[in-house]
Amino acid sequence: MESACPVCQSRIDPQGNLYLDQWFASLGLFKDAVIVHCKACGLGRCQPYPDQTTLEHFYEYVYRSRESPWALDFGTLRRHRNRDPRSMAQLSLALQFTQFGIGDVFVDIGPGWGRSFKSAAELLPNPDMYAIELQKGAAAAYRRLYDVTTYSSLTDLGTAQPTIVLASHSFEHLPLPALNELLIDLACLMRPGGVLVAEVPHVDMRHHANVRGNDSPHLLFCTPDSMFRILEDAGFETLFIDTCCALFDQKPSSGTVQMDATIPPGERTRRSLLQAIGARLPARARRAAYSMAEFLGDRRGPRSLLADENFRYGGNRDCLRVVARPVPDSRSGHTCQPAVR
Ligand SMILES: [Zn+2]
Repeated sequence: MESACPVCQSRIDPQGNLYLDQWFASLGLFKDAVIVHCKACGLGRCQPYPDQTTLEHFYEYVYRSRESPWALDFGTLRRHRNRDPRSMAQLSLALQFTQFGIGDVFVDIGPGWGRSFKSAAELLPNPDMYAIELQKGAAAAYRRLYDVTTYSSLTDLGTAQPTIVLASHSFEHLPLPALNELLIDLACLMRPGGVLVAEVPHVDMRHHANVRGNDSPHLLFCTPDSMFRILEDAGFETLFIDTCCALFDQKPSSGTVQMDATIPPGERTRRSLLQAIGARLPARARRAAYSMAEFLGDRRGPRSLLADENFRYGGNRDCLRVVARPVPDSRSGHTCQPAVR
């Protein structure tokens, strides 16, 4: 096992922390895995990584299956009814750093439910939208719901130069070498001046090793420093990086969040009740209740209280959001090949 950090070359302790596999233990995917982390930059990695074939099988057949807590049936997927605050915030942030012209290209790597496409159609002028997604059924669903073209890899985009690329909770599912490769390809592919907006769980094993929950099926555990270095090595200049999302253990009634001061006492009680009920429901029931609240468009309903651990992991259950811009290949050290259609 390596003893130097692949990102900052500092020495790492190969001993590692036990990989916590709450959801997929019966598969044995992470049976002998540990998370090694760098004391200097904080990057954590699942070691050993599951092999490529096993991972592909997992994402094609298991991750979105009915038995999985992240179940998603693309055949019956509905267009998102409300505004999706996460993708609205991500795209609004990206627009602080780039100009998106009429008909420019927007790409989402790993769009999941595809909500970012609704946000993009609202925020961007007539965007030409693409998804990079492997899961069966996803392409038909994105086409049906959002008029999006789906490819299985970046190279299929050919000469379409994206102005904004979104990767929300995708990078942590990749082994580091695969992420490096993807970022280098992306830096070559993007329109000059375009930006990548990415979000990953914020997991710093130097501080969160004893307070984290489930790790599966993540392979990378990122800190601001390590994310900055990974992007820089691939030819990106980081324009923005910060944590986001409400802290998992923050009680709505604690009064420590500024927003809570505006919540009337009755609403606070309602939220506390929902939170208490939600926390006791099995994951699948919680997800069903979440979907129902979303479908009914209950704007008062704090859906996040009913939601499961989706987007809530790591020590504080917050996330890292980053905006980065490719630097010209003469400065990045990587040589780009001309794209072909
Ligand atoms: Zn390091």
